[in-house]
Amino acid sequence: TAKIIDGRAVADIIRTECSVRVQRLEEKAGIRPGLAVILVGGDPASAVYVRNKIRACEAVGIHSFTHRLAETVENDELLGLILRLNADPSVHGILVQLPLPAHIDMARVLETIAPSKDVDGFHLYNVGALVTGNTVFSPCTPYGVVKLLEHEGIVVEGQNVVVVGASNIVGKPMALMLMARDATVAICHAKTRDLAQFTIGADILVVAAGVPGLITAPMVKRGAVVIDVGINRLGNGKIVGDVDFVGVSRRASHITPVPGGVGPMTVTMLLVNTIESAERLHAMQRTAA
Ligand code: NAD
Repeated sequence: TAKIIDGRAVADIIRTECSVRVQRLEEKAGIRPGLAVILVGGDPASAVYVRNKIRACEAVGIHSFTHRLAETVENDELLGLILRLNADPSVHGILVQLPLPAHIDMARVLETIAPSKDVDGFHLYNVGALVTGNTVFSPCTPYGVVKLLEHEGIVVEGQNVVVVGASNIVGKPMALMLMARDATVAICHAKTRDLAQFTIGADILVVAAGVPGLITAPMVKRGAVVIDVGINRLGNGKIVGDVDFVGVSRRASHITPVPGGVGPMTVTMLLVNTIESAERLHAMQRTAA
């Protein structure tokens, strides 16, 4: 039976490192890393995500600035706020919580964020950098998966990886990041014919489709590493991933639980990116001096 990868434990280790890095920056440079979070409208799930991110910041000593805008906010007002945050030296990371209301031009919003403060990694510049392998900021969820694999000592190089899900925030960047680490990567999605034919060949299977029970034991190779990114709330309120955890645990060598697997890593990598941004600024100031 598979080893359960404890995402909370790995996240705790990295968050402790984060606290140390924040302290060191404060002592050496008098810099306190700052994250600005923009929340548009009253979506309850988004409000929960934002609250978790702010709490996580506070726990490691990152300054957080929350900007709550009305559902009806105009594009120009939102873009104006981002431009002010771009110019604000106390802000090292800017995050616009998605989804945005339909009347907002999301592409324009993401491209207005300075790439050097784009800690979510969604700006076209950072997406392009991901393609060429010169990462500026990696998107937090796939970055968290990479860190989980590293902490478990799982070798990626040369492995056959299958990523199920091809979204811009999880599946596609996940595939690119593993390709950059010399895995052989296939990407599957909703239109893939005979999903099992692909998944059965995977040494490492990463699932981010948002479909509970999508991956069952017969679809998984014996000894595979299975990373379940899915977060689905069932009718009874229970949170499950995309993988049949009980069945697949009998075949896999490693598996992430939901909750307690990839989830805690996502917010952790946001903290890492924000601190990294502040550290880069400090390094630039030293070079200039
Ligand atoms: P999305 O809806 O944007 O994309 C889903 C992808 O899965 C699409 O490419 C789609 O083609 C594919 N897909 C859908 N049904 C499929 C099927 N039957 N077979 C194969 N592929 C299928 O979703 P997303 O934003 O990428 O998120 C995916 C899942 O990951 C969701 O459950 C989401 O809640 C979760 N998620 C978790 C975290 C985390 O921190 N753990 C972060 C982001 C998203």
